[in-house]
Amino acid sequence: MREVTAAIIVKNDQVLIAQRADNDKLAGKWEFPGGKIEPGESLQECLKREINEELDVEIDVLDFFGESIYTYQTGSIKLMAFWCKWISGNFTLKVHSKIAWAHSYELDLYEFAPADIPLVEKLKQSL
Ligand code: C5P
Repeated sequence: MREVTAAIIVKNDQVLIAQRADNDKLAGKWEFPGGKIEPGESLQECLKREINEELDVEIDVLDFFGESIYTYQTGSIKLMAFWCKWISGNFTLKVHSKIAWAHSYELDLYEFAPADIPLVEKLKQSL
């Protein structure tokens, strides 16, 4: 099973969500940004690297938030999400087509990648 991390970056009671680009797997779907763990990396290192690569910002990785296991046609992933805090940098889109800051009551307006949906449900009760 492929291990993937995801960042729950919260600011003013809103969470950062990102839309996958048209040329990507799951094009147009929204997700909590993150990505695959590389050999030798900790979950925290992976998340910091992915967020820097994808959004050009630095984050602190805080407590574990929750996980979701989902089987895509290409195989299963274990998506592990952490509360994160923005430290520095301007959010710049490197791989996504859009980002948005959403209140918990706005999350239902977005179509999320299937692996992210259990995290969305949990977040609605935590934000
Ligand atoms: O972004 P990346 O391609 O590294 O993600 C690895 C896999 O995890 C992809 O199949 C992607 O669709 C999935 N993923 C997801 N939800 C996320 C992040 C990644 O389903 N929040």
